[in-house]
Amino acid sequence: MLYKKFYDKQAGTDEHTSPLRISSLGLGNMRLPTEGEDKHIDVQKAQEIIEYAYENGVNYFDTAYGYHGGESERFVGRVLAQYPRGTWYLASKMPGHMMDFKDGKLGFKGYMSGLGSSASGRIQSCPGIFEEQLEKCGVDYFDFYLLHNLCETSYGFYTDKDLRVVEHLLGQKKAGRIRHLGFSAHGRAETIDKFLNVYDCFEFVQIQLNYMDWILQDAGRKYEVITRRRLPVIVMEPCRGGKLASLGREQDAMLKAARPEDSVVSWAFRYLQSLEGVSVVLSGMTTMEQLKENIAIFSKHDPVTDEEKTMLDRAVKSLMNLVPCTACRYCCDGCPQGLDIPKLISLYNEVSYEKPFTLNFTMDAMTEAEMPSACIACGACSAMCPQNIDIPGVMGRFAAALK
Ligand code: SF4
Ligand code: SF4
Repeated sequence: MLYKKFYDKQAGTDEHTSPLRISSLGLGNMRLPTEGEDKHIDVQKAQEIIEYAYENGVNYFDTAYGYHGGESERFVGRVLAQYPRGTWYLASKMPGHMMDFKDGKLGFKGYMSGLGSSASGRIQSCPGIFEEQLEKCGVDYFDFYLLHNLCETSYGFYTDKDLRVVEHLLGQKKAGRIRHLGFSAHGRAETIDKFLNVYDCFEFVQIQLNYMDWILQDAGRKYEVITRRRLPVIVMEPCRGGKLASLGREQDAMLKAARPEDSVVSWAFRYLQSLEGVSVVLSGMTTMEQLKENIAIFSKHDPVTDEEKTMLDRAVKSLMNLVPCTACRYCCDGCPQGLDIPKLISLYNEVSYEKPFTLNFTMDAMTEAEMPSACIACGACSAMCPQNIDIPGVMGRFAAALK
């Protein structure tokens, strides 16, 4: 297993002086094997996975309040408890992305609505949730603790002056109950940047990063926003939920021709090995076969070369009909509707790859006036575009698909 020293900005340690050595492959505990119609964790198979991971060098285990309907934290904590504390690192998350704070009242929304009270009977408060998580995991501190999913819709919750979520967690850190504080994010690069400008206290950021989302979800810019502050990046969805295990017949053949012995999915992990700022790559492994393959990949430092990166780039672009916007923003000033055209085109590229169209967190937080349906097809933008993009046409297709 490859290990990296955790660069701890707050403690002033770096990749040479840090005492914390974490495995380059981490186990994400949101896709453990399940059984039956109600999809409870398959205790025997899931335990084998966690134990095999630990015994083969994985020491970073990631869970969250909502994973497996609230079962994951307790399960992971119970399995890890058989090993000496200090030989494994546990990460969990405050579920603020699924909570709201209205009229001074805190509650869960959406699919989490049954969780807080039924799981514990405690009053739903951020301090209460944190206590419940420690109890469920059977630990008296978290090695890593994150705000779960900073995005456009959760930004207000995490920065609320009355709730003081971050301040509370900093208090827990001071008390030694959190060793390292960070956040995960599905928000856009601008949102992550803004949040990091407001709070200088975070030590790492977890983002969705893989060679497809480098292009599709603007993950390259997110990576730059984080690493320019010398914060380590923890990667989630390295294989895009399994999509990078097989791209398409033509694309798979291209990768196989270049490295006949390698699986298609190994390219996704080798790609991440080439990014210096990446600390841990989390993979939610459901089967022993996936786990064994991933451990083998992470036992050798074998990053993709620049040439191979170009090939991956070509493979991804051949899979989708991307609108080739370079985000130069020449078109923006002349838009009578004040639309953020490059942002809309980037969202169009992202969601049009997913069929059927799915709204994402960014669009959830947008007003009608910011949506593609606000375009009046005046054409002022296209006249300014050096890429000759038919912008009103894109806006029309985007608006129609969203309907
Ligand atoms: S065509 Fe639409 S996006 Fe372009 S300038 Fe006019 S209103 Fe704005
Ligand atoms: S001018 Fe064209 S390339 Fe530049 S941001 Fe606008 S749409 Fe994108």
